[in-house]
Amino acid sequence: MQKLEQIYEGKAKKVFAIDDPGLVIVEYKDDATAFNGQKKGTIRGKGIINNRMSNCLMLLLENAGIPTHFVREMSERETLVKKVTIVPLEVIVRNISAGSFSKRYGVEEGIKFEEPVIEFSYKNDSLGDPLLNTSHALALKLATEEEIKTIRSYSLKINTCLQAFWAECGITLVDFKLEFGKTAGGSIVLADEISPDTCRLWDSVSGEKLDKDRFRRDLGGVEEAYAEVMKRVTEHDNC
Ligand code: ADP
Ligand code: UDP
Repeated sequence: MQKLEQIYEGKAKKVFAIDDPGLVIVEYKDDATAFNGQKKGTIRGKGIINNRMSNCLMLLLENAGIPTHFVREMSERETLVKKVTIVPLEVIVRNISAGSFSKRYGVEEGIKFEEPVIEFSYKNDSLGDPLLNTSHALALKLATEEEIKTIRSYSLKINTCLQAFWAECGITLVDFKLEFGKTAGGSIVLADEISPDTCRLWDSVSGEKLDKDRFRRDLGGVEEAYAEVMKRVTEHDNC
C-alpha cells in the first residue's frame, strides 16, 4: 500500500492517493489551528494521538452499526480510509452549552440540555463555515433530503454511543463535530476524525477541559490533556 501523490493538505491532516482509486491514506499532523486558521501552533504528538483515538472510536461506532470510512491503521500517523466525497456540512452535536453556542445565544457554558442540539454549518473556510439549517442546505444542494435524514439519525446514534463510551472513561462529552462522506456507491459514511481536536471533553469530576479549548484559550497543559485522554481510552479498551 504505497502512498502516491498528495491530493490535499488541510489544517490538521494530509490526504494521499494510493494505487486503489477507492481508498486514500490520511496522515495526521501536529499542526493546530483555531478561529478559522487565525491562530496557529503545534501540539507535539497530537497527530499520533488523534490518529489512534479516531481509529478506536470509528471501530467502536462500526461495531454499533454506524458505517465509517475506516479501513486500517497503517502507522502511528497514517490510516487507510475509503475515499469519499465529503458532504460539505459540518454536523455539530451539543449536549451542554459551550463555545460558539454560548457566545451566539449569550448563555454561560455548562448548561445541560434535555435533548441534544444538532447544528449544521456550511464547510467553507473562505466563508468561515457559516451556520445553516436544512432548508438552506437543500437550497444550496449540499445534500438531498434523504441524505440529511440519514446524517441526522447517524449523528444522534453516534452521540448516544460516544457519550456512554466517554462516561466510562470519566469524561463528559460536551459537544463535537462530525463530517460525513458519500462512497462511490452513493452511501453515506462517517468520515474525517473524532478526537480532542473535534470534541469538547471535560473531566467528569473536576470539569477540567481535556481538549483543544486548552490551545484555543491559552490554558496551558495542552499536550498533557491530549495524553490524558489517550491514556483513559487505552485503559478502557486496548483497541
Ligand atoms: P481541513 O480541510 O478542515 O483543513 P484537515 O486538515 O483535517 O481539515 O484535512 C483533511 C481533509 O480530508 C478534510 O477536508 C476532510 O473533509 C477530508 N477527508 C476526511 N476523510 C476523508 C475521506 N475518507 N475521503 C476523502 N476526504 C476525506
Ligand atoms: N468544531 C470542529 N471544527 C470546526 C468547528 C467546531 O471540530 O471547524 C468542534 C469544536 O471542537 C467543538 C464543537 O465542534 O467540539 C462545537 O464548536 P463550536 O461551534 O462551539 O465552535 P468553536 O468554539 O470551536 O468556535
